[in-house]
Amino acid sequence: RQWVTITAIPGEKNGDTKYIAVLSNITEQYQLEQEMHQLAFYDPLTSLPNRRLLINRIKQELAMTQRSELFGSVIYLDIDKFKSLNDRFGHHAGDQLLIQVAQRIKAILREEDTASRIGGDEFVILIHATKSTIDKALNSAALISNKIKDQLNKPFQLDDITHYITPSIGYTVYPDNGYIAEELLKNADQAMYSSKNKGGNSVSLFQSENENHHAELAF
Ligand code: GH3
Ligand code: MG
Repeated sequence: RQWVTITAIPGEKNGDTKYIAVLSNITEQYQLEQEMHQLAFYDPLTSLPNRRLLINRIKQELAMTQRSELFGSVIYLDIDKFKSLNDRFGHHAGDQLLIQVAQRIKAILREEDTASRIGGDEFVILIHATKSTIDKALNSAALISNKIKDQLNKPFQLDDITHYITPSIGYTVYPDNGYIAEELLKNADQAMYSSKNKGGNSVSLFQSENENHHAELAF
């Protein structure tokens, strides 16, 4: 990549203007900018978007749904008893597991959805708003959540050990619940905690206290 600066130097007589072209190599600067962007918006371990990028994308989706009148969902996932893997087999095994969890989640999603890692063993999936009703969005979120759970229940090969995990998953739809990005995330987190309280390896729907019209979808 080259940056070109052209300077015109007018001559004393008409018509003998000279030009100086300076070529400078901006590859390094470009690479540095790319690296900084990567560090600011992506998780270095899994290469998934981080919390900051997730929040930006949720804001974009919320802005879009104001015009489109379509519904999407947010799925919050935390691995059950992840610390015990680190404790028994070391941090490296834990890291490998997180990388594979990220790959399995991504494999289930569409290009327009966002899988992010927002903390240690916490993943949030933003499902692009494509559904025409809340019920359709709820159904789709439940299906995707259960698909993710099933995929994560399959064995993981970490170097020479085979390991099994269970996730706690919570979901909520937008823009019905919580119009603000942080609120939406908090609601999905609350649903994830319901799954933890049920003993893990389950999927729960966020239900706000004052509107209980969403029936819990049983699987
Ligand atoms: P719970 O069932 O309640 O979810 O318990 P947990 O053991 O999964 O623990 P929790 O979700 O509260 O905390 C996640 C742990 O993940 C904390 C830390 O030891 C570990 N951890 C956080 N980041 C990383 C990482 O990048 N690599 C590895 N290997 N471990 C991490
Ligand atoms: Mg956990």
